[in-house]
Amino acid sequence: MSLEGTAFKLIKKYFMPTSYVEDFTKITPARLNQLDVKSVIIDLDNTLVGYDEMNANDRVLEWVRLMKENGIKVTIVSNGKKKRVRQFAKPHDIDYIFNARKPLSKNYKKAISSTGVSKNETVMVGDQLLTDIFGANLIGIKSILVVPVKNRDGYATLLNRRIERFIMRYFRKKGLLVKED
Ligand SMILES: [Mg+2]
Repeated sequence: MSLEGTAFKLIKKYFMPTSYVEDFTKITPARLNQLDVKSVIIDLDNTLVGYDEMNANDRVLEWVRLMKENGIKVTIVSNGKKKRVRQFAKPHDIDYIFNARKPLSKNYKKAISSTGVSKNETVMVGDQLLTDIFGANLIGIKSILVVPVKNRDGYATLLNRRIERFIMRYFRKKGLLVKED
């Protein structure tokens, strides 16, 4: 196999999500049911709200309520600091893990074991290929990529975003990564 073929296989293995949608509200109980998913691990910054929005809004709370009503667990797994993640999640009784250090596996495993739902029935939802999706692929769980809530990020993710744009262009060129309704 050519060097390009080998590189592509690796990039696909580690950075390709199971599915790609516009935002978290597209992740309905029906869609999760199709994927055989009963537990959602979800990123916070630029997935549920913009990185600079401190509190959960009605859209987020409505979605979390819908999940809970349908027996689907929701756990926020964020690389953000304790204060930020706690302030967002705790008032609404949403389970959370802060300082998660995604893509490292440790806190994905912690989140999965705390729900009591199997790996096969768990999905990771997030806006970043290099943290959220890479981490999901490293431990072998399903993943859903969403478009970032805001175009701008904190300074720390700038380099990640450049690499990510490169990978996304590559996937698109190969006809992969098509956004679903
Ligand atoms: Mg994010």
